[in-house]
Amino acid sequence: MPTSNAGLISYAAGLLLCSLVTSAGCSSAAASDQSSRNTGKPTPPVRCEAASVVLITLDGVRWQEVFHGVDTGLADTHGLAAYERVDAAELMPNLHRLASQEGASLGGGRDGQAIRASGPNFISLPGYTELMTGRTRPGCVDNDCGRVTHSTLLDELAADGCGKAALFSSWASIGDAASMSHENVRSSVGRYAGDLRGELEADPGVAQILAAGARSAGAPGEDDFRPDAYTGEAALAYLQAAHPRFLFIGLGDTDEYGHADDYRAYLDALRRADELIGRVAHFVFQEIALGRRTTLLVTTDHGRAYSFTSHGAESPESSRVWLVAAGSGVAARGLVESGRERHLADIAPTIRALLGLPAVSPSDSGEMLRELLLPQPATMAARTHSQLALAANGATRSEF
Ligand SMILES: [Zn+2]
Repeated sequence: MPTSNAGLISYAAGLLLCSLVTSAGCSSAAASDQSSRNTGKPTPPVRCEAASVVLITLDGVRWQEVFHGVDTGLADTHGLAAYERVDAAELMPNLHRLASQEGASLGGGRDGQAIRASGPNFISLPGYTELMTGRTRPGCVDNDCGRVTHSTLLDELAADGCGKAALFSSWASIGDAASMSHENVRSSVGRYAGDLRGELEADPGVAQILAAGARSAGAPGEDDFRPDAYTGEAALAYLQAAHPRFLFIGLGDTDEYGHADDYRAYLDALRRADELIGRVAHFVFQEIALGRRTTLLVTTDHGRAYSFTSHGAESPESSRVWLVAAGSGVAARGLVESGRERHLADIAPTIRALLGLPAVSPSDSGEMLRELLLPQPATMAARTHSQLALAANGATRSEF
Protein backbone atom coordinates (compact mmCIF):
# COMPACT_ATOMS: atom_id res chain seq x y z
CA MET A 1 0.00 0.00 0.00
CA PRO A 2 1.46 3.38 -0.90
CA THR A 3 2.37 5.31 2.22
CA SER A 4 2.64 8.81 0.77
CA ASN A 5 1.13 11.05 -1.87
CA ALA A 6 4.13 10.35 -4.08
CA GLY A 7 3.52 6.67 -3.59
CA LEU A 8 -0.14 7.00 -4.55
CA ILE A 9 0.73 8.97 -7.68
CA SER A 10 3.39 6.45 -8.55
CA TYR A 11 1.00 3.60 -7.91
CA ALA A 12 -1.75 5.07 -10.07
CA ALA A 13 0.68 5.76 -12.91
CA GLY A 14 2.00 2.23 -12.57
CA LEU A 15 -1.50 0.84 -13.03
CA LEU A 16 -1.91 2.94 -16.19
CA LEU A 17 1.35 1.70 -17.61
CA CYS A 18 0.78 -1.91 -16.65
CA SER A 19 -2.74 -1.94 -18.04
CA LEU A 20 -1.65 -0.64 -21.43
CA VAL A 21 1.18 -3.05 -22.09
CA THR A 22 0.26 -5.84 -24.43
CA SER A 23 3.60 -7.53 -25.09
CA ALA A 24 5.09 -10.20 -22.86
CA GLY A 25 4.49 -9.25 -19.27
CA CYS A 26 3.15 -10.60 -16.04
CA SER A 27 -0.42 -10.42 -14.89
CA SER A 28 -0.56 -8.88 -11.45
CA ALA A 29 -3.31 -10.10 -9.22
CA ALA A 30 -1.94 -7.97 -6.37
CA ALA A 31 -2.21 -4.76 -8.37
CA SER A 32 -5.65 -5.75 -9.63
CA ASP A 33 -6.86 -6.47 -6.11
CA GLN A 34 -5.51 -3.11 -4.99
CA SER A 35 -7.37 -1.37 -7.81
CA SER A 36 -10.63 -3.13 -6.89
CA ARG A 37 -10.31 -1.94 -3.31
CA ASN A 38 -9.71 1.64 -4.47
CA THR A 39 -12.66 1.83 -6.88
CA GLY A 40 -15.10 -0.67 -5.45
CA LYS A 41 -15.48 -2.18 -8.93
CA PRO A 42 -13.89 -5.34 -10.28
CA THR A 43 -11.06 -4.61 -12.69
CA PRO A 44 -9.35 -6.86 -15.20
CA PRO A 45 -5.88 -8.11 -14.26
CA VAL A 46 -3.18 -5.55 -15.00
CA ARG A 47 -0.16 -6.36 -17.10
CA CYS A 48 3.34 -5.65 -15.91
CA GLU A 49 6.63 -5.14 -17.67
CA ALA A 50 8.62 -8.40 -17.78
CA ALA A 51 12.01 -7.03 -16.83
CA SER A 52 14.48 -7.58 -14.00
CA VAL A 53 17.35 -5.60 -12.52
CA VAL A 54 20.16 -6.73 -10.24
CA LEU A 55 21.96 -3.93 -8.39
CA ILE A 56 25.28 -4.66 -6.64
CA THR A 57 27.01 -2.07 -4.45
CA LEU A 58 30.61 -2.33 -3.24
CA ASP A 59 30.86 -0.05 -0.21
CA GLY A 60 33.45 2.71 -0.34
CA VAL A 61 35.31 1.56 -3.46
CA ARG A 62 37.41 4.15 -5.27
CA TRP A 63 36.97 4.79 -8.99
CA GLN A 64 40.73 4.54 -9.47
CA GLU A 65 40.91 0.79 -8.79
CA VAL A 66 37.81 0.11 -10.89
CA PHE A 67 39.22 1.83 -13.96
CA HIS A 68 42.98 1.71 -13.47
CA GLY A 69 43.73 -1.16 -11.10
CA VAL A 70 46.16 -1.11 -8.20
CA ASP A 71 47.24 2.42 -7.23
CA THR A 72 51.01 2.89 -7.44
CA GLY A 73 51.19 5.37 -4.58
CA LEU A 74 49.13 3.22 -2.23
CA ALA A 75 51.08 0.15 -3.35
CA ASP A 76 54.32 1.93 -2.33
CA THR A 77 52.87 3.06 1.00
CA HIS A 78 51.63 -0.42 1.81
CA GLY A 79 54.68 -2.31 0.56
CA LEU A 80 53.04 -4.28 -2.23
CA ALA A 81 55.34 -6.46 -4.34
CA ALA A 82 55.69 -6.01 -8.10
CA TYR A 83 53.43 -8.99 -8.87
CA GLU A 84 50.61 -7.44 -6.81
CA ARG A 85 50.57 -4.24 -8.90
CA VAL A 86 48.08 -5.23 -11.57
CA ASP A 87 45.85 -3.24 -13.88
CA ALA A 88 42.06 -3.15 -13.74
CA ALA A 89 41.68 -6.05 -16.18
CA GLU A 90 43.69 -8.30 -13.89
CA LEU A 91 42.38 -6.96 -10.58
CA MET A 92 38.68 -7.23 -11.45
CA PRO A 93 38.40 -9.09 -14.76
CA ASN A 94 34.63 -9.51 -14.69
CA LEU A 95 33.81 -5.91 -13.81
CA HIS A 96 36.40 -4.69 -16.30
CA ARG A 97 34.89 -6.78 -19.08
CA LEU A 98 31.40 -5.43 -18.31
CA ALA A 99 32.69 -1.84 -18.04
CA SER A 100 34.78 -1.85 -21.21
CA GLN A 101 33.23 -4.37 -23.61
CA GLU A 102 29.93 -5.99 -22.69
CA GLY A 103 28.31 -2.94 -21.11
CA ALA A 104 28.90 0.69 -20.31
CA SER A 105 30.50 2.62 -17.47
CA LEU A 106 30.55 6.08 -15.94
CA GLY A 107 33.10 7.74 -13.72
CA GLY A 108 36.44 6.74 -15.21
CA GLY A 109 37.06 9.90 -17.19
CA ARG A 110 37.82 13.53 -16.49
CA ASP A 111 36.74 15.18 -13.26
CA GLY A 112 33.99 17.23 -14.94
CA GLN A 113 32.45 14.02 -16.31
CA ALA A 114 32.45 12.25 -12.95
CA ILE A 115 29.53 10.60 -11.21
CA ARG A 116 29.30 11.67 -7.57
CA ALA A 117 27.40 11.19 -4.36
CA SER A 118 25.48 14.44 -3.81
CA GLY A 119 26.52 14.72 -0.18
CA PRO A 120 27.28 16.98 1.55
CA ASN A 121 28.46 14.11 3.73
CA PHE A 122 30.00 11.37 1.64
CA ILE A 123 29.24 8.43 3.88
CA SER A 124 27.17 5.30 3.56
CA LEU A 125 23.59 5.87 4.67
CA PRO A 126 23.20 9.20 2.82
CA GLY A 127 24.69 7.49 -0.25
CA TYR A 128 22.37 4.49 -0.14
CA THR A 129 19.38 6.74 0.58
CA GLU A 130 20.20 8.88 -2.47
CA LEU A 131 20.59 5.70 -4.52
CA MET A 132 17.27 4.20 -3.43
CA THR A 133 15.14 7.38 -3.55
CA GLY A 134 16.64 8.96 -6.67
CA ARG A 135 16.80 12.27 -4.79
CA THR A 136 19.83 14.50 -4.37
CA ARG A 137 18.55 15.73 -0.99
CA PRO A 138 16.88 12.67 0.52
CA GLY A 139 16.97 14.03 4.06
CA CYS A 140 19.81 11.89 5.39
CA VAL A 141 23.18 13.41 6.29
CA ASP A 142 24.76 10.81 8.57
CA ASN A 143 24.67 7.12 9.38
CA ASP A 144 22.16 7.70 12.19
CA CYS A 145 19.40 9.28 10.09
CA GLY A 146 17.22 6.21 10.50
CA ARG A 147 14.56 4.89 8.21
CA VAL A 148 14.06 6.72 4.93
CA THR A 149 11.17 9.21 4.88
CA HIS A 150 10.67 9.34 1.10
CA SER A 151 9.33 6.58 -1.10
CA THR A 152 12.07 4.38 -2.55
CA LEU A 153 12.44 2.21 -5.61
CA LEU A 154 11.60 -0.80 -3.47
CA ASP A 155 8.46 0.91 -2.15
CA GLU A 156 7.37 1.64 -5.72
CA LEU A 157 8.00 -1.98 -6.71
CA ALA A 158 5.96 -3.22 -3.76
CA ALA A 159 3.11 -0.84 -4.66
CA ASP A 160 2.56 -2.09 -8.20
CA GLY A 161 2.70 -5.72 -7.13
CA CYS A 162 4.33 -6.87 -10.35
CA GLY A 163 7.04 -9.09 -8.93
CA LYS A 164 9.37 -9.95 -6.09
CA ALA A 165 12.02 -7.57 -4.79
CA ALA A 166 14.70 -8.43 -2.26
CA LEU A 167 17.71 -7.00 -0.48
CA PHE A 168 20.75 -8.82 0.91
CA SER A 169 23.38 -6.64 2.54
CA SER A 170 26.42 -7.07 4.74
CA TRP A 171 25.82 -3.77 6.55
CA ALA A 172 22.52 -3.86 8.44
CA SER A 173 21.75 -0.14 8.12
CA ILE A 174 21.17 -0.40 4.37
CA GLY A 175 17.74 -1.67 5.39
CA ASP A 176 16.94 1.87 6.60
CA ALA A 177 17.57 3.26 3.11
CA ALA A 178 15.69 0.53 1.28
CA SER A 179 12.09 1.17 2.23
CA MET A 180 9.79 3.41 4.28
CA SER A 181 8.00 0.31 5.52
CA HIS A 182 8.94 -2.96 7.20
CA GLU A 183 6.29 -4.65 5.03
CA ASN A 184 7.54 -3.85 1.53
CA VAL A 185 10.86 -5.61 1.08
CA ARG A 186 12.16 -9.10 1.68
CA SER A 187 15.50 -8.34 3.26
CA SER A 188 18.39 -9.91 5.09
CA VAL A 189 20.62 -7.10 6.35
CA GLY A 190 23.62 -7.86 8.51
CA ARG A 191 23.84 -11.18 10.31
CA TYR A 192 20.51 -11.05 12.11
CA ALA A 193 18.23 -8.28 10.88
CA GLY A 194 15.81 -7.90 8.00
CA ASP A 195 12.15 -7.71 7.06
CA LEU A 196 10.02 -10.61 5.84
CA ARG A 197 13.10 -12.81 6.21
CA GLY A 198 10.93 -15.89 6.35
CA GLU A 199 10.09 -15.39 2.67
CA LEU A 200 13.80 -15.51 1.84
CA GLU A 201 14.37 -18.49 4.09
CA ALA A 202 11.60 -20.44 2.37
CA ASP A 203 14.33 -21.58 0.00
CA PRO A 204 16.40 -24.17 1.92
CA GLY A 205 19.64 -23.22 0.18
CA VAL A 206 19.22 -19.54 1.07
CA ALA A 207 18.21 -20.43 4.63
CA GLN A 208 21.32 -22.55 5.11
CA ILE A 209 23.66 -19.76 3.97
CA LEU A 210 21.88 -17.13 6.11
CA ALA A 211 22.18 -19.41 9.13
CA ALA A 212 25.90 -19.88 8.51
CA GLY A 213 26.29 -16.11 8.16
CA ALA A 214 24.51 -15.59 11.47
CA ARG A 215 27.03 -17.92 13.16
CA SER A 216 30.02 -16.09 11.66
CA ALA A 217 32.21 -13.72 13.65
CA GLY A 218 31.27 -10.74 11.52
CA ALA A 219 34.81 -9.70 10.59
CA PRO A 220 35.95 -7.48 8.94
CA GLY A 221 32.98 -5.44 10.20
CA GLU A 222 31.61 -4.74 13.65
CA ASP A 223 28.31 -5.18 15.45
CA ASP A 224 25.76 -6.90 13.18
CA PHE A 225 27.98 -6.83 10.08
CA ARG A 226 27.90 -10.00 7.97
CA PRO A 227 30.95 -10.92 5.90
CA ASP A 228 30.43 -10.47 2.16
CA ALA A 229 31.01 -14.17 1.46
CA TYR A 230 27.67 -15.02 3.10
CA THR A 231 25.81 -12.01 1.73
CA GLY A 232 26.92 -12.77 -1.81
CA GLU A 233 26.25 -16.51 -1.69
CA ALA A 234 22.80 -16.07 -0.16
CA ALA A 235 21.85 -13.41 -2.69
CA LEU A 236 23.03 -15.50 -5.62
CA ALA A 237 21.14 -18.56 -4.34
CA TYR A 238 17.98 -16.44 -4.03
CA LEU A 239 18.49 -14.96 -7.49
CA GLN A 240 18.74 -18.40 -9.05
CA ALA A 241 15.80 -19.82 -7.11
CA ALA A 242 13.33 -16.92 -7.16
CA HIS A 243 14.17 -14.88 -10.29
CA PRO A 244 13.17 -11.63 -8.53
CA ARG A 245 12.16 -8.54 -10.45
CA PHE A 246 14.67 -6.50 -8.46
CA LEU A 247 17.56 -7.73 -6.33
CA PHE A 248 19.86 -5.41 -4.36
CA ILE A 249 23.14 -6.96 -3.16
CA GLY A 250 25.05 -4.68 -0.79
CA LEU A 251 28.65 -5.79 -0.12
CA GLY A 252 30.72 -4.08 2.56
CA ASP A 253 34.11 -5.73 3.20
CA THR A 254 35.94 -3.15 1.07
CA ASP A 255 34.99 -0.16 3.23
CA GLU A 256 35.91 -2.03 6.41
CA TYR A 257 39.41 -2.78 5.10
CA GLY A 258 39.70 0.81 3.88
CA HIS A 259 39.03 2.17 7.37
CA ALA A 260 41.54 -0.34 8.73
CA ASP A 261 44.14 1.10 6.30
CA ASP A 262 44.72 -2.39 4.93
CA TYR A 263 45.14 -1.80 1.19
CA ARG A 264 46.10 -5.40 0.42
CA ALA A 265 42.97 -6.76 2.12
CA TYR A 266 40.86 -4.10 0.34
CA LEU A 267 42.23 -5.37 -2.98
CA ASP A 268 41.51 -8.98 -1.98
CA ALA A 269 37.93 -7.98 -1.08
CA LEU A 270 37.63 -6.40 -4.54
CA ARG A 271 38.78 -9.66 -6.14
CA ARG A 272 36.17 -11.63 -4.18
CA ALA A 273 33.48 -9.12 -5.11
CA ASP A 274 34.53 -9.44 -8.73
CA GLU A 275 34.11 -13.19 -8.57
CA LEU A 276 30.52 -12.69 -7.39
CA ILE A 277 29.93 -10.08 -10.10
CA GLY A 278 31.09 -12.63 -12.66
CA ARG A 279 28.64 -15.24 -11.39
CA VAL A 280 25.76 -12.76 -11.30
CA ALA A 281 26.66 -11.52 -14.80
CA HIS A 282 26.65 -15.13 -16.02
CA PHE A 283 23.12 -15.53 -14.63
CA VAL A 284 22.02 -12.23 -16.20
CA PHE A 285 23.27 -13.15 -19.66
CA GLN A 286 21.73 -16.62 -19.34
CA GLU A 287 18.38 -14.98 -18.61
CA ILE A 288 18.76 -12.71 -21.62
CA ALA A 289 19.55 -15.73 -23.81
CA LEU A 290 16.25 -17.23 -22.62
CA GLY A 291 14.41 -14.08 -23.71
CA ARG A 292 14.08 -12.50 -20.26
CA ARG A 293 15.02 -8.83 -20.10
CA THR A 294 17.57 -8.52 -17.32
CA THR A 295 20.05 -5.79 -16.45
CA LEU A 296 22.99 -5.66 -14.03
CA LEU A 297 24.19 -2.44 -12.38
CA VAL A 298 27.27 -2.21 -10.15
CA THR A 299 28.17 0.91 -8.19
CA THR A 300 29.29 2.25 -4.80
CA ASP A 301 27.83 4.53 -2.13
CA HIS A 302 30.82 6.90 -1.87
CA GLY A 303 34.49 7.08 -2.75
CA ARG A 304 37.48 7.54 -0.46
CA ALA A 305 39.63 10.45 0.70
CA TYR A 306 43.17 10.87 -0.65
CA SER A 307 44.25 9.35 2.66
CA PHE A 308 42.45 6.10 1.64
CA THR A 309 41.32 5.38 5.21
CA SER A 310 38.46 7.88 5.44
CA HIS A 311 35.68 9.59 3.51
CA GLY A 312 33.07 12.24 4.25
CA ALA A 313 32.27 15.94 4.15
CA GLU A 314 35.83 16.94 5.02
CA SER A 315 37.11 15.10 1.91
CA PRO A 316 35.29 16.38 -1.21
CA GLU A 317 37.26 13.93 -3.35
CA SER A 318 35.37 11.10 -1.63
CA SER A 319 32.20 12.22 -3.44
CA ARG A 320 33.45 10.58 -6.60
CA VAL A 321 31.83 7.22 -7.38
CA TRP A 322 31.46 5.02 -10.50
CA LEU A 323 28.83 2.94 -12.25
CA VAL A 324 28.97 -0.11 -14.49
CA ALA A 325 25.88 -1.36 -16.35
CA ALA A 326 25.33 -4.30 -18.66
CA GLY A 327 22.54 -6.40 -20.08
CA SER A 328 19.11 -5.60 -21.47
CA GLY A 329 18.62 -1.98 -22.45
CA VAL A 330 22.27 -1.03 -21.99
CA ALA A 331 24.37 0.05 -24.94
CA ALA A 332 27.74 -1.74 -24.94
CA ARG A 333 29.67 1.50 -25.27
CA GLY A 334 32.43 0.96 -22.69
CA LEU A 335 33.46 4.11 -20.85
CA VAL A 336 30.88 6.82 -21.50
CA GLU A 337 31.51 10.53 -21.00
CA SER A 338 28.24 12.21 -20.03
CA GLY A 339 29.25 15.75 -20.92
CA ARG A 340 28.42 16.83 -17.37
CA GLU A 341 28.53 15.57 -13.83
CA ARG A 342 26.18 12.78 -12.86
CA HIS A 343 24.99 11.69 -9.42
CA LEU A 344 23.92 8.61 -7.50
CA ALA A 345 20.40 10.07 -7.67
CA ASP A 346 20.41 9.44 -11.42
CA ILE A 347 20.52 5.67 -10.94
CA ALA A 348 16.99 5.21 -9.54
CA PRO A 349 15.32 6.96 -12.52
CA THR A 350 17.39 4.71 -14.80
CA ILE A 351 16.24 1.60 -12.96
CA ARG A 352 12.63 2.83 -13.10
CA ALA A 353 12.96 3.07 -16.86
CA LEU A 354 14.52 -0.38 -17.15
CA LEU A 355 11.74 -1.91 -15.06
CA GLY A 356 8.89 0.01 -16.68
CA LEU A 357 8.09 1.93 -13.52
CA PRO A 358 6.63 5.40 -14.01
CA ALA A 359 8.96 8.33 -13.61
CA VAL A 360 8.89 10.15 -10.28
CA SER A 361 9.93 13.79 -10.38
CA PRO A 362 10.28 15.61 -7.07
CA SER A 363 12.19 18.90 -7.28
CA ASP A 364 15.45 17.23 -6.30
CA SER A 365 15.01 14.20 -8.56
CA GLY A 366 17.90 12.69 -10.45
CA GLU A 367 17.70 12.22 -14.21
CA MET A 368 17.75 9.01 -16.20
CA LEU A 369 21.20 8.07 -17.51
CA ARG A 370 20.15 8.05 -21.15
CA GLU A 371 23.78 7.96 -22.28
CA LEU A 372 24.06 4.39 -20.98
CA LEU A 373 20.91 3.11 -22.63
CA LEU A 374 20.05 1.84 -26.06
CA PRO A 375 18.40 4.47 -28.26
CA GLN A 376 15.15 2.53 -28.81
CA PRO A 377 12.06 4.27 -27.46
CA ALA A 378 11.40 1.24 -25.35
CA THR A 379 11.56 2.51 -21.79
CA MET A 380 7.98 2.42 -20.65
CA ALA A 381 8.47 5.40 -18.35
CA ALA A 382 9.70 7.55 -21.23
CA ARG A 383 6.88 6.66 -23.59
CA THR A 384 4.25 9.14 -24.52
CA HIS A 385 0.62 8.37 -23.94
CA SER A 386 0.06 7.86 -27.68
CA GLN A 387 2.90 5.36 -27.81
CA LEU A 388 1.32 3.49 -24.93
CA ALA A 389 -2.02 3.50 -26.74
CA LEU A 390 -0.32 2.05 -29.81
CA ALA A 391 1.14 -0.68 -27.64
CA ALA A 392 -2.31 -1.36 -26.22
CA ASN A 393 -3.63 -1.77 -29.75
CA GLY A 394 -1.09 -4.45 -30.56
CA ALA A 395 1.81 -2.49 -32.00
CA THR A 396 5.10 -4.36 -31.85
CA ARG A 397 7.43 -3.22 -29.12
CA SER A 398 11.16 -2.99 -29.70
CA GLU A 399 13.28 -5.31 -27.61
CA PHE A 400 14.87 -3.27 -24.87
ZN1 LIG B 1 33.12 4.00 5.57
